[in-house]
Amino acid sequence: MKKYAFCAIWLLCSACGGAAPTAPLEVKAAAPAPSAPEEPVVMETADPPVVMVNQAGYLPDFRKTAVYRGAETDPVEFELVDAAGVVLLRERTQVYGPDTASGDHVHRIDFSNWKDEGGPLRLRVNGQYSQPFSVGKDVYRKMKLDALSFFYHQRSGVPIEMPFAGRENLARPAGHPEDAAVECLPPDAFIFTSGQVDRRYACSGVRDVSGGWYDAGDHGKYVVNGGAALWTLLNLFERARYGGSNFHQFADGTLSIPENTNRVPDILDEARHELAFFLKMQEEKGPFAGMLHHKIHSDQWTGLPLAPHADTMPRHLYPVTTQATLNGAAVFAMAARIYDTYDREFAATCLKAAKAAWKAAKKNPQVVASTDGGHGGGPYDDPRADDEFYWAAAELFITTGEEVYKKELVASRYFKVVPSFLEFDEADGVFTWKDIAPLGNLSLAVTPSRLGEADVIAIRRNIINAAAQFAKKAGATGYGAPLTVGPKGTYPWGSNSNIINALIVMGLAFDFSGDLSFVDEAADAMGYLLGRNPMDTCYVTGYGARPVRHPHHRFFADQLDPAFPAPPPGIFSGGPNSGIQDDHVKELLKGCAPAKCYVDHIQSWSTNEIAINWNASFAWVAAFLDDAGTR
Ligand code: CA
Repeated sequence: MKKYAFCAIWLLCSACGGAAPTAPLEVKAAAPAPSAPEEPVVMETADPPVVMVNQAGYLPDFRKTAVYRGAETDPVEFELVDAAGVVLLRERTQVYGPDTASGDHVHRIDFSNWKDEGGPLRLRVNGQYSQPFSVGKDVYRKMKLDALSFFYHQRSGVPIEMPFAGRENLARPAGHPEDAAVECLPPDAFIFTSGQVDRRYACSGVRDVSGGWYDAGDHGKYVVNGGAALWTLLNLFERARYGGSNFHQFADGTLSIPENTNRVPDILDEARHELAFFLKMQEEKGPFAGMLHHKIHSDQWTGLPLAPHADTMPRHLYPVTTQATLNGAAVFAMAARIYDTYDREFAATCLKAAKAAWKAAKKNPQVVASTDGGHGGGPYDDPRADDEFYWAAAELFITTGEEVYKKELVASRYFKVVPSFLEFDEADGVFTWKDIAPLGNLSLAVTPSRLGEADVIAIRRNIINAAAQFAKKAGATGYGAPLTVGPKGTYPWGSNSNIINALIVMGLAFDFSGDLSFVDEAADAMGYLLGRNPMDTCYVTGYGARPVRHPHHRFFADQLDPAFPAPPPGIFSGGPNSGIQDDHVKELLKGCAPAKCYVDHIQSWSTNEIAINWNASFAWVAAFLDDAGTR
């Protein structure tokens, strides 16, 4: 039996399971109480806790659920209580029963009848309390901006400075300026899926590939993951531009970045930092002119902690691949249409680069990276390129309207398809960096193009159907996550990212249907990510009573050395992964139930990794819910 920790309610102490909420919320005055105020409550927090909530807070007008972990086979009473101990609501749980993902026996709690703004509130079952939370229209307001600010911190090649860094110890000198003259690796270091070293793709000499974003907790820069992140930020902008939401939310002056007074929407400034790097990754001449290099990283994995500017490990540029090239084609095409309003010259450069990339990929359709991706960085291996071809064709078609791209679309097996199951991961999900065709369809649904109306409607219908599938999956799980345990009894690496990408589909389903139940579903599933999960963890830094504190990151490394900074708020953890590949968790989590294969430790790169593509999706969904909350 675990020891109980006692402390006065609302006076949070670390023994009670976490730090105080980031911003104290106003306590509701004169709340209607269905029962008389009780004696001041003494909180009794079991470890592990038994009542799990969305710690970051609930939107007043949408569904509010929690989970009670208890063995009872009949409904039990739950109470919603305020800071003064006043019971605001008293209802009964719904028994769900045994939950496969967690191994827990759980009850569902639905307190949607409570719609008043305010907090902190808690749920209580059998004398045991949830973490505190609030109800408010603005619970996602700061979160979406923090999620976008992550990209500034990940910038390579430029100093990270105050006041933009937000905190003195997050400022640092420019990382890896030496990427401005980095040597190409011959393809011997990079075996292609044919198993052959293909000398046609040998590169020699040096290139300037400085800038861009670091991918994750490491200092590698990978085009294929950068492409997914760029799509997500640019789609968030296009969704706002074409009527899905408030266009001004990403305007100049909204983000804490050096470019926030240049009259260009800040989200585009941030994306341009990566686009400029992508342009440098493209070969200008020679036998593979137009193709993009796959990645650049250190020759060996570096240790933790390590500030980017202090890294002395030699770095090399890896050969070109078809997938990197098509990622370039897709995001350059997007940039060509999006930046045209703000910088015609840049837009024209991007259009030229997009077409050159497409042409080069058609000429070299099978230069695909394999699992032998060298050392010191992720392989980002991918045996298939047909999905990248589809995505790139879609973006080029939207931008140019040219028939050549439409022919590609119509002939593809991905045309109009919006899946709710990932082939590569054998898991629920709509897309990953590797399984990326659906991005083309999401763009065709959001952004006006010359695709016929019937086809656009068909894609939108498929988005709505996929969203309904995800909602159904969420409804069938104990903790309300739209992620079923896989056929082999697993949760994939970055399971939280499968979920967050599904919520993009739910958001778009609302945009195209006007059906508010999709907002309910998206907000509810977000609740899983923000604390209503078997780990009682808010999987984002800086939010909730038990946020992620120690993501796998070489610079946000105060857990290892107090001279390094704690992470800034708004960073989204990939979360439970039943693969438990890293040494920190191999023994520690052996035999874990899929949704419990997680530890908040900096060394756990397989369960607590963070990444630009995941954070981009997190920002997308937080922005969507922020819109929805104020509707
Ligand atoms: Ca700006």
